[in-house]
Amino acid sequence: MTSKKKSVSVVPLGDVPEVDLQVIADHIIGCFKLTTQILPPMDPPEYALDERRLQYNAAIIIEMFESIHFSDHDKVIAVLNQDLFIPIFTHVFGEARQGGKCGLVSLYRLAKNPDGSTPPKSTIHERAAKVALHELGHLLDLLHCEHKKCLMHFSGGIDEVDEMSLDLCEYCSIYLQDKLR
Ligand SMILES: [Zn+2]
Ligand SMILES: [Zn+2]
Repeated sequence: MTSKKKSVSVVPLGDVPEVDLQVIADHIIGCFKLTTQILPPMDPPEYALDERRLQYNAAIIIEMFESIHFSDHDKVIAVLNQDLFIPIFTHVFGEARQGGKCGLVSLYRLAKNPDGSTPPKSTIHERAAKVALHELGHLLDLLHCEHKKCLMHFSGGIDEVDEMSLDLCEYCSIYLQDKLR
């Protein structure tokens, strides 16, 4: 068994504002206590565009990412502006496979409230941090949690993202500590 701390890289796909990357990296460090590094941008995932839906297929992007060798990085959080979907949902804020290597965070739908109004920047940043930590939770083997305030609660709409907290419930927290040991 190795006690080496897991490290997470945050990588922008295309032109993602530096501040969003920094907020995500800071929350990974602060909330999950993991070593985090922001990598130089990679190309936006045009290969994953679904021409009929005009959205990007999250599974195709993750598959591509899982095939890349990121040396020294245990987990990768890719951040992009494109609207993501998986076939059973109209859209997703992020996507990751349980225990996988690479998770996605889409900023596309975070800058609008359910009533169409624009939230303050601080709200958008908090949402981005929640989605990123939630997907990283999946990469670290966490499943969805029924507690509405828990970071691992499933969010289908932005109101549910707002309702959940940046923290794991007691149960998920113990599970994660066990995984990171
Ligand atoms: Zn989830
Ligand atoms: Zn929980």
